[in-house]
Amino acid sequence: MTTIYNFSAGPAVLPKEVLQQAASEMLDWHGSGMSVMEMSHRGPEFMSILAQAQADLRELLNVPANYKILFLQGGGLGENAIVPLNLVGRKAQSATIDFIHTGSWSGKSIKEAKKYANVNVAASSESAGFNGVPDPSTWNLSKDAAYVHLCTNETIDGVEYHFVPDVAQQTNGASLVADMSSHILSRVIDVSKYGVIFGGAQKNIGPAGLTLVIVREDLLGLALPICPSAFDWKIIADNDSMYNTPPTYSIYIAGLVFQWLKRQGGVAAMEQKNIAKADLLYDYLDSTDFYVTRVAKEFRSRMNVPFYLKDESLNATFLATAKERGLLQLKGHKSVGGMRASIYNAMPIEGVQALVAFMADFAGANG
Ligand code: PMP
Repeated sequence: MTTIYNFSAGPAVLPKEVLQQAASEMLDWHGSGMSVMEMSHRGPEFMSILAQAQADLRELLNVPANYKILFLQGGGLGENAIVPLNLVGRKAQSATIDFIHTGSWSGKSIKEAKKYANVNVAASSESAGFNGVPDPSTWNLSKDAAYVHLCTNETIDGVEYHFVPDVAQQTNGASLVADMSSHILSRVIDVSKYGVIFGGAQKNIGPAGLTLVIVREDLLGLALPICPSAFDWKIIADNDSMYNTPPTYSIYIAGLVFQWLKRQGGVAAMEQKNIAKADLLYDYLDSTDFYVTRVAKEFRSRMNVPFYLKDESLNATFLATAKERGLLQLKGHKSVGGMRASIYNAMPIEGVQALVAFMADFAGANG
């Protein structure tokens, strides 16, 4: 039987071991006689699942004690409203949020934030076709910015920050807020360099439905009065992510993924594997002109690799032939076309090897 490798950008591949464990625990979690889906979120069984998941995530990302880990709902796009509602402070409409526009997702964040505050696009790579991150020395930051928003991995455009910008001096100490939806847990990060880190779970963590927010405690309690209570980070934090019903099953699966990550050696070990996978694919792409990449080398994403066939009339055949070889969901986002291989933590290097072998065969047969 053909081995299947799933390159979806999200919802995305999960570790097989995790799915097998979830299957074996589906009807009866640890002798409780209940599926996790059937448990009260306030019962001792689910409370233990939540506490373990939070503790494991704190350990994996080395989250400092003065940061809260919140599990909520709303997804990445929900956070585009929830973040400003929580952070623009009492100044509301007179506050300014600085944005670095590096692709589709930061673009969406900019659009949404305009409902709640003044928006300053301090830098944009749009005119360069979103091929990288503008040099921080050119960023036109605001003196009184409420915060500076980055999307540190642009899932559609394949642009990743491989550095943490220092914005404090130019902004009177504004915090960085980072949308890490598509590369959280793929590399070691220094959480203390950010005020807020957020992301949807459905790429590198677990199933859709769970949204993760890691927030420094001094940024709690600033929400606008119109912020819905269920999205007010202070209320969520004070209730340990139990103010309303959290996405229990997604939290359970995320918890299994965190345990799996620990068994793999943690985030540092995972980062090495991710570098090896990304190098394999980009080295191949650089070796041929049958395929084209558009992102400048120093900003290439290790998680999402967009590429184009030089002869785009071959796109449909490429996708159909890839599928026959067990290589699924390689179609690029509809807004940019072409192809995209998402190679998250749960993608083994064998999957990337199979992809490269197929791409070389396809180029040989059609070049
Ligand atoms: N931000 C980034 C970086 C994303 O990749 C996505 C989803 N692809 C989103 C935000 C939006 O997430 P959601 O669909 O969970 O609202």
